[in-house]
Amino acid sequence: MSEMIIKGSCLCGEVQYEIHGPLKIFQYCHCSRCRKFTGSAHASNIFVPPEQFKWVQGEISVGRYEKPDAKYFATCFCKTCGSSLPWAVQGGRNVVVPAGTLDEDPELRPLHNSFWESRAPWHTETSDLPKFAELPKKKSK
Ligand SMILES: [Zn+2]
Ligand SMILES: [Zn+2]
Repeated sequence: MSEMIIKGSCLCGEVQYEIHGPLKIFQYCHCSRCRKFTGSAHASNIFVPPEQFKWVQGEISVGRYEKPDAKYFATCFCKTCGSSLPWAVQGGRNVVVPAGTLDEDPELRPLHNSFWESRAPWHTETSDLPKFAELPKKKSK
C-alpha cells in the first residue's frame, strides 16, 4: 500500500509542497490573526507534524513573518504572488497547511470551528446563501 501524498502550490505555481498522511486535524479558525492573513472569514487549516511536510519546489520564494507578540503564530507566503503557504508554528512543533492551497482532495474534512467567539460580525454560513455554479447570473432587463 502506497503512502498518501497530497500536493499543494501557490497561485503562480512557483512554490510547490507536499504533505504525507495520515492527516488528523482539520479546522476552521476564526481568530483575528487568521482573518487578517487570509483576508477571509476564517482560515481552513490542516495541521501536520514537520516530518509529514516537504517543500518540493520554490522554497527560496517562500517569505515568512513571525508576529512578535504571538507564541505560535507566524505566516508564510509566496514572494511572487502573495498566496498563503504552509507555515511552521513558532517552536516548530506543527506545520499549518492552508487547505485552500491544496491541489488535491485531502479526504479529511473540517472537524470544528476554533476561535468561534472571535468570528467576523459579518460571518454567514455559506449553506444559508444562494448558490451559483459560477458567477451569479445577471438579471435580464
Ligand atoms: Zn506564487
Ligand atoms: Zn487562527
